[in-house]
Amino acid sequence: MMTWHRIIRYTMIFTSYFNMNSEANCRRIAFIEQCFGASGQPLALPGRALVGEGVLTKMCRKKPKPRQFFLFNDVLVYGSIIISKKKYNRQHLISLEDVKLENVDDEMSLRNGWKIISPSKSFVVYAATATEKSQWMSHIRKCVNDLLLKRGITQNSENDSPVWVPDSDASTCMHCKKSQFSLINRKHHCRKCGMVVCNACSNQKWLLPQQSSHPLRVCLTCYMQLTKSKNMTGVTPTPVHDDTSGEDTSDEEDDDRTDGATGEAQDDTFTAYDVIN
Ligand SMILES: [Zn+2]
Ligand SMILES: [Zn+2]
Repeated sequence: MMTWHRIIRYTMIFTSYFNMNSEANCRRIAFIEQCFGASGQPLALPGRALVGEGVLTKMCRKKPKPRQFFLFNDVLVYGSIIISKKKYNRQHLISLEDVKLENVDDEMSLRNGWKIISPSKSFVVYAATATEKSQWMSHIRKCVNDLLLKRGITQNSENDSPVWVPDSDASTCMHCKKSQFSLINRKHHCRKCGMVVCNACSNQKWLLPQQSSHPLRVCLTCYMQLTKSKNMTGVTPTPVHDDTSGEDTSDEEDDDRTDGATGEAQDDTFTAYDVIN
């Protein structure tokens, strides 16, 4: 039988379905729980099994970064790597019944990528090889389909969160197309469409419950659309006009924020894995 400890660098390992409720699987889940420590939530649940795991490069706001991913039969879990195969933090958990995948075409050094789309978070990840990409995608799809079938539900993509346009893709505001970004004129992300916009073009907020319990920054185009659909459905208004600080701290809620604290460990990991070569 395959031992979980023989994991090769950034190679993912998938277990077959008949193997799932084995003692080895339970032990592995307990170990992963321990790797996240107090920063994570309990991962061992009745009926939950670990299907696969590995390192993927996740496109963050400023640059791509390695993240450890765990595919369970009902959730996708990922986190930042503190010590490879031993210690992770910043755990994110996405329910698979909401997950949709979309192919991303290769572009220079960024190859073997695809989008992971969900209401709470959407982003692009890259695998080390084309084979790994297709394995990841097919395993995720199989888990999603099995889950939908089991629960007798279909997916809804209306409330999916946008994939954020990377900061580097915009030197001017994507809304007014005039405002040049600088140290003073900061970049902001619309939480509805993911575009990089200036402060003036995103001075409205809207409650997007799938993403946060607080109203989030939206661009003027999305604000108009949201207002229009609100008027049509007669839903209670949720816009928030006061942008108290002008400083959008929630813009930093991306994975980039805490990386500073563990900067060295992150850089070491990135070099060691060398994922995007
Ligand atoms: Zn603008
Ligand atoms: Zn928008």
